[in-house]
Amino acid sequence: MADIGALAAALDGIELSTDRALLRQKSRDFYWYSPILKAQLDGKSAEIFARPRDEAEVLRVLAAARAARVPVTVRGGGTGNYGQCVPMQGGVVLDMTAMDRPLALRDGVVEVEAGAKMIDLDLWARERGWELRLWPSTKRTATIGGFVAGGGAGVGGISHGTLRERGNLLGARVATMQDPPVVLELEGDEAAPVNRTYGTTGVLTRLFLPLTPAQDWRDVAVAFPAFPAAARFALALAFADGIPKKMCGVFDSQFPPFFRAIADAVPAGHALALVMVAPSGMRALRDLAAEHGGTIVAEQSTVEAERDAEKTPFYEYCWNHTTLQVLKRDRGVTYLQCRFPFEGTLEAVEAVREPFRDEVWMHTKCVRFGGRITMSALPVIRWTTAERLAEIMAAFEAQGIGIANPHVLTIEEGSNYRRVPGDQLGFKQRTDPLGLLNPGKMRDFVPLETPA
Ligand SMILES: Cc1cc2nc3c(=O)[nH]c(=O)nc-3n(C[C@H](O)[C@H](O)[C@H](O)COP(=O)(O)OP(=O)(O)OC[C@H]3O[C@@H](n4cnc5c(N)ncnc54)[C@H](O)[C@@H]3O)c2cc1C
Repeated sequence: MADIGALAAALDGIELSTDRALLRQKSRDFYWYSPILKAQLDGKSAEIFARPRDEAEVLRVLAAARAARVPVTVRGGGTGNYGQCVPMQGGVVLDMTAMDRPLALRDGVVEVEAGAKMIDLDLWARERGWELRLWPSTKRTATIGGFVAGGGAGVGGISHGTLRERGNLLGARVATMQDPPVVLELEGDEAAPVNRTYGTTGVLTRLFLPLTPAQDWRDVAVAFPAFPAAARFALALAFADGIPKKMCGVFDSQFPPFFRAIADAVPAGHALALVMVAPSGMRALRDLAAEHGGTIVAEQSTVEAERDAEKTPFYEYCWNHTTLQVLKRDRGVTYLQCRFPFEGTLEAVEAVREPFRDEVWMHTKCVRFGGRITMSALPVIRWTTAERLAEIMAAFEAQGIGIANPHVLTIEEGSNYRRVPGDQLGFKQRTDPLGLLNPGKMRDFVPLETPA
């Protein structure tokens, strides 16, 4: 057992807590979307909470934890989906939310502390004429550090790809678990080993991210009599280079009743497309919708909706928020993450949508990967057993559909098409030789030093 009392004494002056209720709350994320992970992770808890204010305090926590051989699990907003910030072996939960300041904006590049909430960062950038290229549907609660270390796809993906595309993460400052812990400044490709590695390779303290000129995005809901027409419209919009857009998603007819603010506007039995386009693209969007037999049934300003706690920006019906909207009323579902082939995208969607319709509810998003456009999906699945889930995954894979399994704990098992290239394992061996950073999440890592 670690001597948490001694550790706390060494961290005098830093915000700490051993309150059990707080520890329980700060040791969880949204892993419970997966009945498989829920069974594995319920009850896991850190032994002490620490909330540093600056890099110097981060380094003090890491040095004291290293000396005491205590694990450290970093945490931002705690909105991750795979138990990414659940401390598997107790120890410290390192909450980064006090390090939340944007520091500079030069030539369209923002330097920001890693604990900044993305909504705050985006509004700050907007006041200066810029906005984030990418954000998750949890923009209103998640941190930028958590997005880089744990997520990386979402709104903006139709124009900018994912965070793994070269140029979407320009650099990072990272505190290590070496002897002694230091802060490394990584630029360009050097930052790949901290991109989507669940905080196992270092603690992000600052990030350098490219922005894009701000637009007054319009949320638009377009209803279609059937899913295939909605999907054809969405893909046509994705390929329409003349229409500036930030998001383009399609939902089968089971979903609209779960989308509270727009449910009444969508005729029963209709499929739905939810898109974000710039004001200059609205006329062309109307023409494209009409060409595909769609009817615009709701419209609002994205920015006004996200600033109002009573309103729902349409991206909060998309990505993994779709699962959440269903779970609010039906706890018997879970989800998958998949990517359709670049060729024959719509045929592949149909090949699994219709045959599984009773237990798999399909919704897709248009995204770019390496400059090519396809659809990804987080279909909602009626949960029965782990064996049935495995059968569904195998049936999808047989159609050439990639699965990034969200029901596993490690980076290697869960990433598939979401894996960031680079020597993450080699980097961890250098920056965390004792394996104290978020242990249990990098499967292939073997500590170089044996803990004393
Ligand atoms: C309803 C819902 C919708 C979602 N939609 C999306 C989506 O559209 N796109 C998407 O990519 N994800 C999505 N997610 C997952 C998650 O919300 C995002 O990845 C989010 O960006 C995580 O940020 P966070 O601050 O909550 O991170 P946390 O959950 O706190 O942490 C995530 C991981 O990053 C690590 N970490 C956090 N901060 C740091 C740091 N400073 N240094 C090093 N490691 C760190 C943690 O240890 C953990 O492994 C969704 C989740 C939910 C519940």
